[in-house]
Amino acid sequence: MSNSLPLQAMLNARGAPLDAASAAGRRGCPLSDLRDRLRRSGLRPTRQRLSLGWLLFGRGDRHLTAEMLYDEAMRAKVPVSLATVYNTLHQFTEAGLLRQLALDGSKAYFDTNPSEHHHFFLEDEGQVLDMPDCGITVDSLPDAPEGMEIAGVEVIVRLRRRHGARQS
Ligand SMILES: [Zn+2]
Repeated sequence: MSNSLPLQAMLNARGAPLDAASAAGRRGCPLSDLRDRLRRSGLRPTRQRLSLGWLLFGRGDRHLTAEMLYDEAMRAKVPVSLATVYNTLHQFTEAGLLRQLALDGSKAYFDTNPSEHHHFFLEDEGQVLDMPDCGITVDSLPDAPEGMEIAGVEVIVRLRRRHGARQS
C-alpha cells in the first residue's frame, strides 16, 4: 500500500503544531504572541478573542467544552456570554487554532493542540486525556473509497472505572 509509510510516520509523530512549537521556543510577551497568532490565523485580535485565547492557550495542551471555558471566564471576571464563548471556540476551530473532538454526542470538546493525536476519554468523568506518544499504532487501514484519500486517523479509547476499583 503506497500510503502506509507516510501515514505511519504521521501517526507516530505527535508533533506540536507550528504555532505551539514556535511559541514554546520563543520567550516573548505571551499577550503579543497571542495577538500575532490570531492575526496570522486571519482573526482580528478583539478584546474578547484575546481574553478567551489567553484562558485557552495559557496553560499548555487542554481539552475543554464551551461550558468549562465559560466558567473559567466568569471566574477570571471576563465579561462574556456563553453564546460568545461558543462563537469564539468555533471561530478558533475554523482558523485552525483548535480542534473539535467528536467524543460525546451531547457536548463538543475543543483541543488546544490542533495537530493529529489520540485520546483517552474517561466516560464517567467526561474527561479527555492525550494518549502517550507511543500509545497506539494503526498499521492496517482499509483503502479509501475511489476518489478519496485518508486525511487523518484519530483514535479515541473509552475508559471506565473498573467495578470496585478505588478512586485514586
Ligand atoms: Zn488532545
